[in-house]
Amino acid sequence: MDATHTDPRQLIALEDDFGANNYHPLDVVITRGEGIWVWDVEGNRYLDCLAAYSAVNQGHCHPRIVAALREQAGHLTLTSRAFRNDQLGPFYEAVATLTGYPRVLPMNTGAEAVETAIKMARKWAYTVKGVPDNKAEILVFSNNFHGRTTTIVGFSTDEQYQRGFGPFTPGFRALPFGDIDAVREALHPNVAAVLIEPIQGEAGIIIPPDGYLRDLEAACREHGALLIVDEIQSGLGRTGRLFAFEHEGIHPDVVILGKALGGGCYPVSAVLAREDTMQVFEPGDHGSTFGGNPLGCAVAREALRVLTDERMVENSANQGERLLDHLRRIKSSSLREVRGRGLWVALELHASAGGARRYCEALQARGLLCKETHEHVIRIAPALIITSDEVDWAAAVIREVFDELG
Ligand SMILES: *Cc1c(COP(=O)(O)O)cnc(C)c1O
Repeated sequence: MDATHTDPRQLIALEDDFGANNYHPLDVVITRGEGIWVWDVEGNRYLDCLAAYSAVNQGHCHPRIVAALREQAGHLTLTSRAFRNDQLGPFYEAVATLTGYPRVLPMNTGAEAVETAIKMARKWAYTVKGVPDNKAEILVFSNNFHGRTTTIVGFSTDEQYQRGFGPFTPGFRALPFGDIDAVREALHPNVAAVLIEPIQGEAGIIIPPDGYLRDLEAACREHGALLIVDEIQSGLGRTGRLFAFEHEGIHPDVVILGKALGGGCYPVSAVLAREDTMQVFEPGDHGSTFGGNPLGCAVAREALRVLTDERMVENSANQGERLLDHLRRIKSSSLREVRGRGLWVALELHASAGGARRYCEALQARGLLCKETHEHVIRIAPALIITSDEVDWAAAVIREVFDELG
């Protein structure tokens, strides 16, 4: 590599000079990752407490996932779905066996899987439920985050996600998150589905009231609407269970997966459903050139295997509790609430604290990387392989920063 390309200022300048300005990253230029750790181009080490928004639940460059990627890359990477490939069937079987959902539809990014679930719900409404043509409605929630396509941002309630991007797809209605009466009132006969994050990640790790998801499931059953749960960020062990909806013992009709399904290596997403729901799709209805490609399938299968073999879901529950325990003992007049499930922890600051960004910058200076969520929430979400000693270290660093900044 050109020697000048290890100078972080020059690398940042290249991004700023040639890229689009749609992100505001911390100025740390990472060159290597291993497990929970990353290194910048100057050799500084950081504990990665974002884990690529939970896409790296298994840790950076997990040796078994990287080996599966390398191995498959030397055999076959892409066939398109015009032909079959020898990795797709085993991938389906692995997902179905692990999750208990008998049907799987693979895509690439999370947003594409959400779009797929929306199309499935609409077609199900017209062909099974008997909703009149083009009248299907999908209920969503305030402060939702389901991705960035024009349809999806069209039902966002975040003004910035929408501003300048209309007109939007009709057929969605946003209700207050956590209010079961609002859902019961809105469930008229044309409602195809309710689409929800079981815990709202991008909104700031917002956990709904106890019993809410159970009541939501019951209301959907009663009114014949599909319950679609977006587990793209909350799923695959992040909350200390395989799926966040398991905390309430429910069985959604449709589950959307992404992020960690690709083991931090490769974009793989999927929609999981029952037989009778998935069957609405016929040849030609829907597709994706890269969806279900052999490279992605091999990577995802190994990503799920290591999650199980290394007991990462259990570790998330145990270490998450340890982390919450530490953080709840921090005394600071800036700290409004500490909450979380598994290794998904939010430190919410009072508005008077001057924003989460300066805390994230102070944490960065001490070797801990995280990103503010909206203005006042610091999200702590390391890879699920973190050990007790590492949790203790991270908590000590966070405490130091609150001691310093108040
Ligand atoms: C990240 C995310 C998405 C979108 O996934 P992309 O891969 O970025 O398209 C959708 N839903 C939730 C809950 C997410 O966290």
